[in-house]
Amino acid sequence: MSWDFETEPEFQKQLDWIERFVRTEVEPLDYVLESPDDVRDEKRNKLVRPLQAEVRKHKLWACHLEPDLGGQGYGQVKLALMNEILGRSRFAPTVFGCQAPDSGNAEILAKYGTPEQKKRYLQPLLDNQIVSCFSMTEPQGGADPKVFATRAELQGDDWVINGEKWFSSNARWASFMITMAVTDPDAAPYRKLSAFIVPTDAPGVNIVRNVGVGDEPEGAHAYIRYQDVRIPKDHLLGQRGDGFVVAQTRLGGGRIHHAMRTIGQVKKAFDLMCERALSRTTQGSALADKQMVQEKIADSWIEIEQFRLLVLRTAWRIDRYKDYLKVRKDIAAVKAQMPKVFHDVVIRALQIHGSLGVTPEMPFVDQVLESFVMGLADGPTEVHKITVARQVLRDYQPTSGLFPTGHIPALREAAIRKFAGRIELEV
Ligand SMILES: Cc1cc2nc3c(=O)[nH]c(=O)nc-3n(C[C@H](O)[C@H](O)[C@H](O)COP(=O)(O)OP(=O)(O)OC[C@H]3O[C@@H](n4cnc5c(N)ncnc54)[C@H](O)[C@@H]3O)c2cc1C
Repeated sequence: MSWDFETEPEFQKQLDWIERFVRTEVEPLDYVLESPDDVRDEKRNKLVRPLQAEVRKHKLWACHLEPDLGGQGYGQVKLALMNEILGRSRFAPTVFGCQAPDSGNAEILAKYGTPEQKKRYLQPLLDNQIVSCFSMTEPQGGADPKVFATRAELQGDDWVINGEKWFSSNARWASFMITMAVTDPDAAPYRKLSAFIVPTDAPGVNIVRNVGVGDEPEGAHAYIRYQDVRIPKDHLLGQRGDGFVVAQTRLGGGRIHHAMRTIGQVKKAFDLMCERALSRTTQGSALADKQMVQEKIADSWIEIEQFRLLVLRTAWRIDRYKDYLKVRKDIAAVKAQMPKVFHDVVIRALQIHGSLGVTPEMPFVDQVLESFVMGLADGPTEVHKITVARQVLRDYQPTSGLFPTGHIPALREAAIRKFAGRIELEV
């Protein structure tokens, strides 16, 4: 029997190092640099590259990947414990080689890429010499992949892609995109799509604009028009018609990694809330002494711990089964719960900070917005709840009787019959 909630002492030492390193060396980058994904920014590289080298020296680079891909083969549980720390800082995932969307894209390249594709795209991606983009959502709908209309047609030795994609994050900095396009419109709904590697400098890849989140005038999320984009035949990723399978591989990992990092963000808000409750006095006592503030702290702690356990258990199940489809319900549950915990804890932290809480001088307003992002990116909460419910219901059968199996009169009658010989019961 093994049911253990402790971290191995050796790994705890590494976590302690990560904690110190992130707080002292990495978090300060968040306040002076623009985007962690702009690998062409010299200022960024000057500060980020030496920190990445330090992480490699400590054997903590791209830990989730297998050693043959330059990682440590630590798996998802250790990554979860690391990501709880890395989630505090915008730059930390990049410094540790596990940033989205590259980590998920690397996973599918590793799994489905040909040796040539791996050499050309995976290796520089793993080294963070380049960054990548995942281009799936379309302007007419993201939550339903069955409405995707971007087409890829084989013409001679090339695939020719036409269509529009919406919210392709990081396309402006990416060297290549993994693009989903319909290759077989007459196939069954989940066999129509295929995945392609599209270099962003291919003629016909036109970024209409880079859409921002909140009040960002220019953001990271590209609205892209693919106009007769011609790519060689060997840029198909996986088999023709396998687009959904390829996307699921990526999204499974991506969703749980977001959740791990979200714990880091939520804890950051929680720490600030507790510090403020102890520091601020009003009407004769500290905020921490007021019961409604105590309730906010207690609710937040409980919700964070519940969520954290769900995330860790899901990570453990991924490591155990090595198959995202087997852990689909757990991942969907994590994804559905993530925006709620994030939102609820952050709005309490914001409220406890009073007027200061709503200013850009504290992180809460951005975090509230980010909580909504977590309820949309990689699929909206509603769709994940549908997945949870469907998977749960697979383990149940309808009853053929008029009354449910929990109907007490029938249960009592059966119990009386069962014990009739042994004791006398009043009906
Ligand atoms: C910050 C950010 C980054 C993103 N990055 C990427 C990226 O890199 N690549 C990419 O391809 N996409 C990306 N996306 C897009 C994301 O995957 C989509 O926003 C998401 O799938 C929802 O699609 P949609 O926005 O078109 O909403 P719609 O599909 O129009 O859905 C709108 C709303 O309808 C409701 N809804 C939808 N379906 C159901 C249902 N079955 N039952 C009940 N209610 C439902 C939900 O409330 C949902 O939010 C990103 C999104 C964000 C916010």
